[in-house]
Formats: sequence, structure tokens, C-alpha cells
Amino acid sequence: MSNHKKKFEAPVEKNKTYQGEINDLTHEGLGVAKIEHYPIFIEGALTGETVEFKVIKVGKSYGVGKLIKIINTSPDRVEIKDKAYAQSGTMPLQHLTYEGQLKFKKDQVENVMQKIAKLPDMPVHDVMGMENPFGYRNKAQVPVRKIKGKLETGIYRKNSHDLIPMEDFKIQDPEIDKAILTVRDIMRTYGVKPYNEKDNTGNLRHILVRRGYHTGEMMIVLVTRTPKLFPISKIVPDILEELPEVVSIVQNVNPKKTNVILGQEAILLHGEDKYHDKLLDHTFEISHRSFFQVNTSQAEVLYSKVLEFAELTGEETVIDAYSGIGTISLALAEKAKKVYGIEIIEPAVEDAKRNAELNGIENVTYHVGAAEDVMVEWSKEGRSADLVVVDPPRKGLDQQFIDAVLEMQPKKMIYVSCNPATLARDLALLIEGGYTAEKVQPVDMFPQTSHVECIALIQKQTI
Ligand code: SAH
Repeated sequence: MSNHKKKFEAPVEKNKTYQGEINDLTHEGLGVAKIEHYPIFIEGALTGETVEFKVIKVGKSYGVGKLIKIINTSPDRVEIKDKAYAQSGTMPLQHLTYEGQLKFKKDQVENVMQKIAKLPDMPVHDVMGMENPFGYRNKAQVPVRKIKGKLETGIYRKNSHDLIPMEDFKIQDPEIDKAILTVRDIMRTYGVKPYNEKDNTGNLRHILVRRGYHTGEMMIVLVTRTPKLFPISKIVPDILEELPEVVSIVQNVNPKKTNVILGQEAILLHGEDKYHDKLLDHTFEISHRSFFQVNTSQAEVLYSKVLEFAELTGEETVIDAYSGIGTISLALAEKAKKVYGIEIIEPAVEDAKRNAELNGIENVTYHVGAAEDVMVEWSKEGRSADLVVVDPPRKGLDQQFIDAVLEMQPKKMIYVSCNPATLARDLALLIEGGYTAEKVQPVDMFPQTSHVECIALIQKQTI
């Protein structure tokens, strides 16, 4: 029989059980076992372990396995006592020691520097981690559902909208966890109806709690399906009495059948639609819709590194592209002559302007627009900068942005990245354009998860 086009045949069969050694973790933290060079991704398995797994998916280039038994346990394994977390997927690295997590993150950055940027000698520093890698989130948004006749708060089971009731979220500020339970109990007392997603009935959809890490100020947001929240005149005083840190209570109305948490309409129930937190001694005013870094203390570590790399003397003109609500530009402004922020979302720019004013900072100007367009415009106008700081979303920089930077020729660039792969890609392009990448400093903003944040220092080559 001649068979020219050989049909792909995986060396494993669905629903069969195999044994394999884990040689690597994917960037999402899944263990990788290889059977005849065919990779199988296994959740919960760690590098160095030999495991038994059942194949649950056979794809063209990889398969997926379900962990059945660990035959040879890694010394980096942490035993998980509470199974709910494994079901929720909020802490995909929880079974790995924190030291192991930091090493995993550093390895990932080194890997992309080598494979994508072709920079095997790039100095990647040890990941700056947290002393206590739990309780760090300053914001929580928990769904509310009825389970066995009771109003419950918790977390969705992975890839579903089934609620798993949960009281200790582990990575949220413990004060936020307590506040969720307090609000839950008040809602139970008054018989508030939990939202029912199937037929879009019931009322209370989500409870959001945000708390200033440095200020302790708390904001409660009750997301409801209808504007009525019965009996509001009792709920509000009860919350205030039991949670004295609360400065703001907002009701957000979302009538739609949707995965989006917040609706358009907001009703102020107590205080104003704002609370405060600080970052490196600057105060930020945050509304219920505003973006704010979720790990305040590590954001300070990150921005301190940016300042260190910037080595500002007070004479510099700085561009802060992808400036968001201005956290980085305010940190830079005190040490530079002038900072120009560029941000595409107008309300974020409004926040940034207000925050500059709140802190008495006058040498920052914000520009609403796409960074790639604004940079081209500015370089055409012959404007220049000593330092360009970028903090783009996961997809990294646009080619047009990079071309504009190469046209503008700043002496220095600092690249804050939440995706090492696009960072590596962009570094290679900047190096091709005559820049040198000096070093990369990863910072762990999201312990127990697979996210890696990095700062790279990039300089113009001097001959
Ligand atoms: N440093 C900022 C956050 C940066 S997150 C802070 O702490 O507030 C990335 C930001 O880039 C977001 O605010 C997003 O709205 C913005 N953004 C996304 N695409 C953009 C583009 N093409 N041009 C300018 N800003 C963009």
C-alpha cells in the first residue's frame, strides 16, 4: 500500500491511561509530558515528577491529560488541602512552592529571551517576589447566586458559571474577604434575591469590594439587575455600622444577560463614587469603574525599579506611553522636567489628570489617542524625548510605534511588560534599530498565578 499523504496519528489514544515524566511547564503552568515527542499538557503536574494520566483530548500538535496519580513527587510540591481552589482555577500555581513559582517565572523570561529575542546572554535578574504571597489583591468581584435556597457568594468553577461558595479567597486582602461575608449576611437577613443567570431573574448579581492598601478606605459596589434593592434604607446603615472603613457604597445596575459585570447606570447609596489609595506617596482617587493596579505593594516595587532604571536628574523630557490613570507618569514627574502621557481611553486620562492635580503635580500633560499614532505625529513634528517609558497591553508594541521611536531616537527606553513573549519580540526589533537591551527585571505582581511582569532597560548605542 502506498500512502503519500500520511494521516497524522497521535501516539496516544483518548481515554487511555499513560505514564510519563514531566520535563517542563507551559507558560500557563501546565506540566508537559512527552510520549514519542508528542506533548501532553497535564494540569497540576510539576517538572521532575513521574505521573499517571488519562488522555482527555488528542489534538494535532498536542494532547491534554488529566492527572490521576503522582508516582514520583517533586520536592517543590505544596499539598493542597482545600480542593475548591483547584476547581476554580484562580490560583493555577498554588501546588508549587513560592520559591518554585519565582524560579518558574524567571525561567520563562530567560526562555523567551533566548528563543524569541535570540539574546541568550541577556541579564535576567531574579524575580522580585513578595514576603507573603497571599492576601495581596486590593479588589474583589464575587458573583452572588442561590444555592440550596440560600444566598451564597464565591467563585465560578473553571470554564463555567457554577458557583462554588467560598469564604477565604486566599489571594484577596483578608479585610475584603470579611467585608464580602458581612455584606452577604446583611443581604440574607433582608431576603435580597440572588441573581439567576439562566432566566435573568432575581436581583443581586455581584458584590464588589475595593480597599485602599495604604488608606484602609473601602468601597462596596452592589451590582443588581433592577434599580430596586429592597430595603435600601436598612441595608446601607447596617453595612456602615458593621464595616466602619466603608467610605462609599455604589449600586450599579446591569439589566442585561451578559458576562460583563458592570452595567451603565450607577446609583450612589453612600458617600461619593470614590475612595483613595496611595502609590509611592502619591494619592489616587479611584471610582467604582476605574482601573487601579490590584497589587499595591508590588506595583510600588515595580515603579521604584522604573525610577531606578530612569536615573532622572530633573532635566529630562519623558514620554509615558500607555499611561492609564497616570501611575507611572506621576512617579516620574517629580524627578523629570516634563512628562507627556499618552493613553487611548478617555476616562482613564480624566482620572490621570485629576490625580496629577490632587498631588500638586504640574509638569505632566496627557494626550488622548493611540500611542502608535501620537508617536508618529510627534516624531514628524520633530519633538524629542530623553526617555520613553511604555507599559502596553499583552500584545505589546505596534510596529508603527517602534518605527516612531527609532525615528525619534530617545537616549533611553524603559519597557514595562505583562507578557514576556511580546517583550522579547519587541526587544529584538529595537536592537535591530540600533538600541541595546541592558537588563530585564521581573517582578511578581500576581503570586499563585502564572502571570509575569517585567521591566527592561533599553539604551541607544553609543559608539
Ligand atoms: N501604567 C498604567 C497601566 C497601563 S495598562 C497604569 O498603571 O495605570 C495599559 C494601558 O494601555 C491601558 O490603560 C490601555 O487603555 C492603554 N492602551 C491600550 N492600547 C493603547 C494604544 N494603542 N494607545 C495608547 N494606550 C493604549
